[in-house]
Amino acid sequence: MSTASSISPGSLNDLPFDNRFTRELPADPNLVNSRRQVQGACYSRVLPTVVASPQIIAYSAEVAEILGLSREACESEQFAAVFGGNQQLPGMDPFAMCYGGHQFGNWAGQLGDGRAINLGEVRNQQGQHWTLQLKGAGPTPYSRTADGLAVLRSSVREFLCSEAMYHLGVPTTRALSLTLSGEKVMRDMFYDGNAAYEPGAIVCRVAPSFTRFGNFQIFAARNDDETLRRLVDFTIKNDFPHLGEPSQETYARWFEEICRTTAEMVAHWMRVGFVHGVMNTDNMSILGLTIDYGPYGWLEDYDSTWTPNTTDASGRRYRFGNQPTVAHWNLYQLANALLGVFDGPEPLEQALEMYSTHYEATIQSMMAEKLGLKEFEPTTDKDIIKELLEVLQLVETDMTIFFRQLSNIGIVNADDDADCLSPLKAAWYKPEQLIGDKLSRIANWVRSYRNRVQQDGTTEESRATKMNSVNPKYVLRNYMAVLAIEKSEQGDHSLVNELLELLRHPYDEQPGKEEFAEKRPEWARTRPGCSMLSCSS
Ligand code: AMP
Ligand code: MG
Repeated sequence: MSTASSISPGSLNDLPFDNRFTRELPADPNLVNSRRQVQGACYSRVLPTVVASPQIIAYSAEVAEILGLSREACESEQFAAVFGGNQQLPGMDPFAMCYGGHQFGNWAGQLGDGRAINLGEVRNQQGQHWTLQLKGAGPTPYSRTADGLAVLRSSVREFLCSEAMYHLGVPTTRALSLTLSGEKVMRDMFYDGNAAYEPGAIVCRVAPSFTRFGNFQIFAARNDDETLRRLVDFTIKNDFPHLGEPSQETYARWFEEICRTTAEMVAHWMRVGFVHGVMNTDNMSILGLTIDYGPYGWLEDYDSTWTPNTTDASGRRYRFGNQPTVAHWNLYQLANALLGVFDGPEPLEQALEMYSTHYEATIQSMMAEKLGLKEFEPTTDKDIIKELLEVLQLVETDMTIFFRQLSNIGIVNADDDADCLSPLKAAWYKPEQLIGDKLSRIANWVRSYRNRVQQDGTTEESRATKMNSVNPKYVLRNYMAVLAIEKSEQGDHSLVNELLELLRHPYDEQPGKEEFAEKRPEWARTRPGCSMLSCSS
């Protein structure tokens, strides 16, 4: 007998859909696509808006492979029609999710998928479920006052960064395709009264589930414990099947796992220098995946107070160094929402406490790996890491280059301060700042690090190999995305595709591509879109 899992689709029409979310959870009975408050339902059925002339700019071959789509399928006209939102495949059941969230620390009520439309869940040959979701596919009942669309600028950023993060080993939603809609979309990029038309685009995102903390919060806020429980049980059954049948014990293990995976996700962000930019609870995945690539940015010079998001400029709530604390705050809000299905608060409180210890242990072992140490030794390494994070901020230091170059540190003469630092010199934006106390403090750190490495006894070569597998050479530097966007807006999509290819191998040397591993060029220091981004997208 043929089951969904034994079909090898290759072509689009054969993609096997198994839509658990719409089949098992309560639907909004209203099928009209009007903006409204939706009560007692997890989603509303809605179709993507038909667009003028969908054109594929790029697609991820790996994501296509996960879904079992052939190259021919991805390069067909039908692919553009489907992932531009103009055509539904047999078995699709498009819908927008209902969720709420805390935005910048305040409860914002119902938000929901205002411009994301889930097409359905593909059950691939391995039996895994992957939800396909179009972002920018037109209004839904949750669009509130906005248009449901996305522009090319933000879509390039989402498409490239989700794939780059995956290849860096950071838990993330994926992206299958980037499609121009052929429509113009009006945006006021900096909310300063200078609105202009930009090309519209649609990203097809792919993840085992797009459920967010806010999906649970909305029912708690409405005292709708029944729907809350249905969603909790559904999530455990489908997204956490290894935890067993829903029960009080299972709920406790479930929340603990959410705390653990969230801690690990944030530790990865800190490892690679990623700033999410908008860690609202509606942007927190229940699976601990990085989700919703908006005004994110990559640390260039290491600055724990940096955020790319101009909308957050005054409080800097979502600055780099605050991400672990904010994730904890968000988990606390989720715990509050889940109280309605727990018999008491103790298991939630315990898991929240565990978050901090688990985060600490995870980041410590990641830092030890970044430093090429066999393992984290608290007696020596706490101080070494603390001092490192301070010397990185003494002068303007490129985080990615610094760690990548650190594997070469063993070969220098340790007596002279300047010699001591010579393997790292590519990392400094203003080498003239390296004088006096700053120079000697950084050199002293290098000496203590060298001593620690010598004690560890790993050979230079194997330490370098290990370090180069966790310290990327290539990340999506903010200016690189800007260059790709500018070309793409002129109709030349080659750089988008070149960067997609580059970022598939972030830890490899990739001869010929070194320009992308260099410091941010000076012109990008203050250029909008490079260091400053808003939520407008
Ligand atoms: P974000 O800040 O992108 O996570 O979005 C917060 C909320 O606003 C979510 O409910 C989004 O779906 C919604 N939203 C953002 N941009 C748009 C848009 N252009 N049209 C409709 N809804 C949007
Ligand atoms: Mg969002």
